[in-house]
Amino acid sequence: MKDYGALLKKYHLKATPQRIYMINEIEKKGHINIDDLYESLKKSFPYISLATVYKNINAMVENGFLSEVKIPKMKTKYELTKNEHAHLICTKCGALEDIFIDTQCIKDDIIQKSGYTIEKTLIKIEGICPKCR
Ligand SMILES: [Zn+2]
Ligand SMILES: [Zn+2]
Repeated sequence: MKDYGALLKKYHLKATPQRIYMINEIEKKGHINIDDLYESLKKSFPYISLATVYKNINAMVENGFLSEVKIPKMKTKYELTKNEHAHLICTKCGALEDIFIDTQCIKDDIIQKSGYTIEKTLIKIEGICPKCR
């Protein structure tokens, strides 16, 4: 298990047992929505409220510790902030996976064609996962 306490402090976040648990769960699942996270938290913290989960998640998103993953037709999922990556989504089972690709050539192409400065790249690829194929 990683030292999430120290990691939280680096982001100026208080390392509460609930937060450590949340981060472990997010790391384990890769991406998780609030409802699933809440269900799992209740096993260890029976008195935790959904509002508390939201409050903690929002604080961690604000500090950049967590990132939101918004996928149309799906509940917003959360993941630990990682290096830039694309998301693969299975249209059959809804699996969501990270795929680390080099987006620099896409960015260069877009900058050249549009003259924009790019702040953020969100890449989502839909397909059928190996399990569903
Ligand atoms: Zn699938
Ligand atoms: Zn991801």
